[in-house]
Amino acid sequence: MYHIPGEADVAAAISYVLSRYGTIRSQRGLARLVMKVLRNLDRDYRLSGVRVRQIALKHRVVRVTVETREAGGTELNIHCPVCGTLMQEIRNRTLDGKTVIIGYNCPACSYRSGSLPRRPQRYIFSPLQSIEPVGESGTG
Ligand SMILES: [Zn+2]
Repeated sequence: MYHIPGEADVAAAISYVLSRYGTIRSQRGLARLVMKVLRNLDRDYRLSGVRVRQIALKHRVVRVTVETREAGGTELNIHCPVCGTLMQEIRNRTLDGKTVIIGYNCPACSYRSGSLPRRPQRYIFSPLQSIEPVGESGTG
């Protein structure tokens, strides 16, 4: 029988891992390091990478950014690749009076994307206080 660690413990472990290792460019990598910390508390803890990311976002212990690639196709309901919240359409009116969707905006975490559906490729977790200019430009 395995145990599920509490959110507060996970959040504290994430915070500790980031303060020790700095930016981690992989959800799986972060989950592995967090599990190492948590297994000191309980050897039978189990934790998925997705849950680590969700708790990191909910408790705002780190900054989560995502690298995406084009998903192709069209979807009616686009969910935020960072936190999974249903995204809001950003509309613009054209000269001939039509409205077009120019992008999507996440109401929960302020992630923005262009109008084409994109799929998350890589999650990047960085300490809240660090400013990293690399990769911040060129978001479509
Ligand atoms: Zn979001």
